[in-house]
Amino acid sequence: MSDLAIPQTLLHPLKATVVGFHEEENEYSFQVEYPDPEVCPNCGTCGEVVRFGKKQVKFRDLPLHGRWVTLWLVRRRFMCRACNTTFSPALPEMAESNRMTRRLADYIIKATVGRTNSDVGREVGVNESVIRTLFRDHFEAQKDRYKPTAPRVLGIDELYLQRTYRCVLTNIEEETIIDLLESRTKPQVTAYLSRLKDRKDIEIVCMDMWNPYREVTKALMPQATIVVDKFHIQRMANEAMEKIRKSLKAGLSQHRRRALKGDRKLMLMREHDLNPMNRMVVDTWLNQFPELGAAYRLKEEFLNIWNLENESDAKEEYRRWHSSLTPEERPQWAPLTTAMSNWEAEIFAYFGNGQRNTNAFTESMNRQMKDLNRLTRSMSFEMFRAKILFSVEHKMKRKEKPRRESPFTMGYGLPTDANLAGRAPSMRDMGAPIRPLLEFLLEPPININPMPSAEG
Ligand SMILES: [Zn+2]
Repeated sequence: MSDLAIPQTLLHPLKATVVGFHEEENEYSFQVEYPDPEVCPNCGTCGEVVRFGKKQVKFRDLPLHGRWVTLWLVRRRFMCRACNTTFSPALPEMAESNRMTRRLADYIIKATVGRTNSDVGREVGVNESVIRTLFRDHFEAQKDRYKPTAPRVLGIDELYLQRTYRCVLTNIEEETIIDLLESRTKPQVTAYLSRLKDRKDIEIVCMDMWNPYREVTKALMPQATIVVDKFHIQRMANEAMEKIRKSLKAGLSQHRRRALKGDRKLMLMREHDLNPMNRMVVDTWLNQFPELGAAYRLKEEFLNIWNLENESDAKEEYRRWHSSLTPEERPQWAPLTTAMSNWEAEIFAYFGNGQRNTNAFTESMNRQMKDLNRLTRSMSFEMFRAKILFSVEHKMKRKEKPRRESPFTMGYGLPTDANLAGRAPSMRDMGAPIRPLLEFLLEPPININPMPSAEG
């Protein structure tokens, strides 16, 4: 091959010189070399370094034109005649332990968010296990750096992922995810929250109706008001109505059942959201099937409680609603009414001053659960946590109150944490912003998979 056929610029801005080139259907191979060092790294003498031996070492690089790229690096050893030691120069552009260029390692870490490891592996021509290791190391480093801030309004929710309930901690006002715990057990939640610095600053805890959450909150954040997010209790009203609808439908003849086409969706909608057409349809059903009509009415009336202005009106209206249940209806609505009595204080705390917090996380997540489950099916929990926590730039906030310390006290006493960490003392990490994160995770991945087999 003549020198003219050797592409010198394709690997730009890599500093290595291309000395050989070979092309195959799915792969480009470049033979590359770095300039000889002039200075001995051991004794610092200049001009006494001589070549001492060489071998070729294989590195993967970023794919080019949809093909895998292999770099065959001519890796030389050198000897310093001044101090008589041999050495191999450092390779700042290579992630040597992973046998790839650093830029490929960076690319892989970005690409594995929102895509499977094997998919990324096929694209860049790297074994899946290498990708896993890369990502894990990267995650470990980020995890060590992450210092979450206790929010004013904490959300404790659960996420049913990989057939297990996971606990999700959110900052409701900032709409960020603070962390994700492997399970929602009391010991796990306790362990995490007891390590959360400044948890005394938490004023409101918005939660699912899961007793361990309540117990942990009362024990660790006794100052906080516990609020059950209206979403959770309203969902139970929908579920009760759904159960009634299904059992009614199951008892109908096929002919009569046909009259209820599309009923699920319309019945779950709020009455005020129905357009005139749909409203007519629903009215017809409700007249035709009085039991269904009653269930729909009860659902609507229950949800309307949350439109009321204050706690005493809401309580009053709930009492009225509850006593309107007939003996036949009572068992049907029992899951809801039981939850209402077990969590009465926390449910009605929603109506207290300034506590009408709805949880953006719960709402968005529930809409996207199917996609998230698909995305994480073959992922370890740690991997999923890493992707949730470290895929997008965190929301950072300046501390409200500037430090009051005099600058002249510097040098006395113990160094502050901020000085030790060597970073701005006034920034607080609020966590991963939910909406950008979901957008990022769930957008269809761009796949430039080079393997012909993958096209079939
Ligand atoms: Zn030397």
